[in-house]
Amino acid sequence: KAANERLKELDRLKDEFVSTVSHELRTPITSVKALAEILRDNPDLDATRRGSFSAIIVRESERLTRLITQMLDLRKIESGRMEWRMDRVDVKAVIQEAADITGHMLEEKSMTLALDLPETRPVIIADRDRLIQVMVNLISNGVKFSDGGGISIRLAVEPDRLIIAVRDTGIGIPAAERERIFERFHQIRDRARGRPAGSGLGLAITRRIVTHLGGAITVESAPGKGSTFIISLPRMAGG
Ligand code: ADP
Repeated sequence: KAANERLKELDRLKDEFVSTVSHELRTPITSVKALAEILRDNPDLDATRRGSFSAIIVRESERLTRLITQMLDLRKIESGRMEWRMDRVDVKAVIQEAADITGHMLEEKSMTLALDLPETRPVIIADRDRLIQVMVNLISNGVKFSDGGGISIRLAVEPDRLIIAVRDTGIGIPAAERERIFERFHQIRDRARGRPAGSGLGLAITRRIVTHLGGAITVESAPGKGSTFIISLPRMAGG
């Protein structure tokens, strides 16, 4: 009976997933199609409008690609089909690489990035690319939900674990939302800002990756002042 209940629950989740996903996919496809039709049917359209319509088509297509990649990542992790390449990983190098990848986003908003890293080079057993994905995700969120200010990343070494804290000086997260933001598709809607850009899948994927690596992720926040995402990862013996 319990198994039956569980199956029903899974079925319900799947329905919810399918309907959210189709909505998320249909929205960008609809505008891409409409704008492409305008371009096709109006060969004499002025250059300014032609340029801005094309730019929207490119942006929405990129959004779709990102969404599909994220959905596939999530499905792969959840169904146990993700291939994890576990190896010795230099965590300082991972943070540095994530900083390089996100450099242009910070620059665009004139934001700073401060790294507080230990003298030593701590090593853990992990999937390097997935760990970079986690860091890039947290930094991009920090940038997305801040107006100026800066991001700081602190890496602390404890006897049996590493702590990575990613802090921003952005809009913050209300207490009631601090667990829910890790659920898939969950985004905080507020009256002033409306629905944020993105899919609401980033943190769901992030938590699943961190959990797979034997760690945990939580968030602390002072609304209006900023948020700090804290990851703890187990260290290998002698690492
Ligand atoms: P997305 O992939 O769309 O960015 P996430 O799963 O990464 O979605 O985040 C879910 C929601 O959590 C965001 O839409 C936002 O409302 C909130 N959030 C995430 N990171 C931050 C942050 N650093 N500051 C404030 N809000 C955040």
